[in-house]
Amino acid sequence: MNKHLDIAILGAGTAGLNALGQVRRHSKNFLLIDGAAEDKLGTTCARVGCMPSKAMIHIAEQFHARRKFKKLGIEGGDELSIDSAAVMERVQDVRDILVDRVLSNTIDKMGEKFLNEFAHFADHHTLQLGDQTVGFDHCIIATGSRPVVPEAWQSLGDQILTTDSFFEQEDLPASMAVIGLGVIGLELGQALSQLGVNVTGVDTLTTIAGLKDPEINRCAIDLIQKEFPLILGQTAQLEKAGDLIRVTAGDHRFTVERVLVSIGRRSNIDRVGLENLGIQLDDHGLPAYDIHTMALKEAPHIFLAGDVNVDTPILHEASYEGKIAGHNAGTGSLSKFKRYVPLHITFSEPNICQVGQSLDQLDESRIVIGTFSMGPHGRALVMSNNRGLIHLYADKEQGTLLGACMVAPRAEHLAHLIAWCLEQNLGLSDMLRFPFYHPVFEEALQGAIRDALGKTTLVHAIPAELTPL
Ligand SMILES: Cc1cc2nc3c(=O)[nH]c(=O)nc-3n(C[C@H](O)[C@H](O)[C@H](O)COP(=O)(O)OP(=O)(O)OC[C@H]3O[C@@H](n4cnc5c(N)ncnc54)[C@H](O)[C@@H]3O)c2cc1C
Repeated sequence: MNKHLDIAILGAGTAGLNALGQVRRHSKNFLLIDGAAEDKLGTTCARVGCMPSKAMIHIAEQFHARRKFKKLGIEGGDELSIDSAAVMERVQDVRDILVDRVLSNTIDKMGEKFLNEFAHFADHHTLQLGDQTVGFDHCIIATGSRPVVPEAWQSLGDQILTTDSFFEQEDLPASMAVIGLGVIGLELGQALSQLGVNVTGVDTLTTIAGLKDPEINRCAIDLIQKEFPLILGQTAQLEKAGDLIRVTAGDHRFTVERVLVSIGRRSNIDRVGLENLGIQLDDHGLPAYDIHTMALKEAPHIFLAGDVNVDTPILHEASYEGKIAGHNAGTGSLSKFKRYVPLHITFSEPNICQVGQSLDQLDESRIVIGTFSMGPHGRALVMSNNRGLIHLYADKEQGTLLGACMVAPRAEHLAHLIAWCLEQNLGLSDMLRFPFYHPVFEEALQGAIRDALGKTTLVHAIPAELTPL
């Protein structure tokens, strides 16, 4: 054995780097281990995830805004056009800046504390790292996930894209199918359509963006479908058709230049040799773990943080899980930490957000649903963006806030306010006592709170919006 570590961190993504921050406080005898090639390091978020996708969405939104110009009395919008090579260059520039920032603050400064190898467990306290064998007391698995591409489609060549390859494109195609309309597919599909690509979206499900509230789902579909066609409830088949790809989905048959496959991501847990630990793994190859300590139930000196556990594959959760795992590995304890209120945002236009408990988790006979339709909303009307619907869920008798689901402009901000109120266990009346400036999007939330409160069985001797001294 070459050496023995206090802590080994597998994966230099968001979860691994956040674990590193905690581990460093308690030990000098650790290694951060990631086998990705130099041009693949720098976190999924910065390189192929959150940030390049948001860079593209921002450009698409700016270009799409021209469609409202005429209504606002601005001439010349129709003459604007897209230079698709320049769009991709901008997306890649933003990505490079952010990847450089991640690397220069972390791996570039780590010297021998970073090892560029893929790790594999040999047993409960030993890792195989290339031709080295390294012992460890504690290990954090933060090896992330990868896009799923059905085997039959892998042979169709480089016209089949995933988010791993999409941002490397030098220009935009004339036509594209987006297979899978979860958060990633919907965000990128809409952005591509707004940039002038002839996009068709296909999903086996009849819901988009993982929505669980049927009315919000219907509203979101109606709004998105005004921009590009969605084929829902149909499974796509792909085949070569000359230089193009033919997509068949139910009765629909069409050809496209390229296809973005966004049908989900699978954990990289299958690549770390967990089978050598002799612990029980579920059908996805995942071991049982405690979400409050991040420790494996059958091997509590090993932790699982970030997308690798496929529980809540979003950045702020990966980062929090990394911190829990890093703290516990660093201190050699199994302290339990509270988890965040669920907060999910799809950066479509309008935004689609789910916060707290979703409708399918609630007993509808015991809740009220406060509704606000964006149609008459003053600020949204001024901005020519008065489309969408907000649903707020609260306990019928206590008026306690339980969750929300929305498709509304700038709902990303409303979702945060709701999440913070949920974190504080606030009720509808508490929320109404906060100030709401005029005219702001937050007034839509105020409308939904008022509507929900009116549907509860609560009786207020004084107006709910007044705070007695
Ligand atoms: C297109 C897209 C858009 C997204 N947008 C958002 C968004 O807007 N908001 C949001 O909250 N989230 C978003 N996400 C999700 C977010 O990016 C992830 O939740 C987050 O990046 C996960 O971080 P991680 O540390 O778990 O994994 P990663 O950052 O993927 O890190 C895992 C690391 O482990 C390494 N590794 C793998 N196997 C091994 C091994 N055996 N040994 C050593 N190292 C190994 C890999 O090389 C990689 O560097 C998006 C994701 C995608 C793909």
